[in-house]
Amino acid sequence: MAHTIVIGAGQAGAALVARLRTRGEEGPITLIGEELVPPYQRPPLSKAYLLGEMEQPRLFLRPESFYADHDITLRTGARVTGIDRAARTVTLSDGETLAYDRLALTTGSHPRRLPEAIGGDLPGVLAMRTLADADEMRPYLRPGNSLLVVGGGYIGLEAAAVAAKSGMKVTLIEAAARILGRVAAPETAAWFRDLHRAHGVGIIENTGLTRLLGEEHVTGALLADGREVACDVAIAGIGIAPATELAEAAGLTLDNGIATDLRGQTSDPAIWAAGDCASLPYRGQRIRLESVQNAIDQAEAVADNMMGAEADYVPKPWFWSDQYDVKLQIAGLNTGYDRVVTRPGEGAAVSFWYYCGDTLLAVDAMNDPRAYMTGKRLIEAGRSPAADQVADPATALKALLTA
Ligand code: FAD
Repeated sequence: MAHTIVIGAGQAGAALVARLRTRGEEGPITLIGEELVPPYQRPPLSKAYLLGEMEQPRLFLRPESFYADHDITLRTGARVTGIDRAARTVTLSDGETLAYDRLALTTGSHPRRLPEAIGGDLPGVLAMRTLADADEMRPYLRPGNSLLVVGGGYIGLEAAAVAAKSGMKVTLIEAAARILGRVAAPETAAWFRDLHRAHGVGIIENTGLTRLLGEEHVTGALLADGREVACDVAIAGIGIAPATELAEAAGLTLDNGIATDLRGQTSDPAIWAAGDCASLPYRGQRIRLESVQNAIDQAEAVADNMMGAEADYVPKPWFWSDQYDVKLQIAGLNTGYDRVVTRPGEGAAVSFWYYCGDTLLAVDAMNDPRAYMTGKRLIEAGRSPAADQVADPATALKALLTA
């Protein structure tokens, strides 16, 4: 019987192997992951888990027994170092070789590191990607300590919120003109800037990092404008790069990640890819989505197609972020927007609706799940309400769906 190997025991890898069994796959399945723990969810690492409001077992996507119960061989603490496409084998770091008939790459992504030359390798300079990273950060979270966050993306902002809630003094620096520059409109960025400042977080935009200071451990940072900021710990939240090195060494086509077709197949028909590491065609461009929903949906689509479904994967982009008592929900992809419409919600709730011309692309909803759901349904149906109706709070959300 055909042997399926999945490299990368994270969100996508776990979804893929489970779906194969649900779909009736009877052949052997091996899920290989270099981390020491079973597959787990990452979002709480910068939210409830970091804050100490969630314990480790709740991070695991399935109990460890699930894999054995479903005859899935889970190899944790095992890193794949090479793929031989001609021989259809993979090699592990201890030299062991495993043969596959079908291979899936769900290797996720690597956090970008600050260069060693500016102190990026100093103890106390942390990334925020793995359980091990969050466990290293947790002991610093107490009143009196200070945190420097380098980078104003969602993960950096979430970590800043947790640290501020824990009583730390927090400074966040962003080299670009504003926070969330890559992912959100100025309206959303301004809303979160105000929220953080109201919680005492110092947000310094348009200012690069010259170098981190300290000998044995990070003690602060020298900023490009000459200012010095003291800190007990620093988090580099400067983005991620898809984990493509295995695919690249094996000669697979790369294009902003491991290039797949709509069915998740790479340039080698025996090899598939899903999750953060994979890029796929979408509305005339090639995109890579860094989200839980995509990791699950794409991996399940790959499993279906491995089983012969021949079904194209249509992503339904969705993302969320928790900061303080705010839940941000994002529907759609805002790439190419030319204007943003603000819709006030009840109380402090608000949503920002991204348009390109008359076409609705995406919605950012803060503490407004109904606006989010409405936007999501409209975007998935390819429908665009008139912007002036959206902006008018007198127009009920329901009416937008039926307009
Ligand atoms: P991962 O879950 O990263 O899994 C990849 C796995 O492959 C890793 O365990 C890695 O060690 C392993 N691996 C890589 N190479 C090898 C190899 N050669 N051999 C063996 N194993 C290998 N998304 C949201 O939608 N909402 C959120 O609020 C949100 N918050 C986040 C907060 C944090 C702190 C982080 C880090 C991510 C967050 N995300 C969020 C993003 C989301 O977690 C990712 O998009 C998702 O985990 C991607 O799943 P994946 O399976 O592609 O990669």
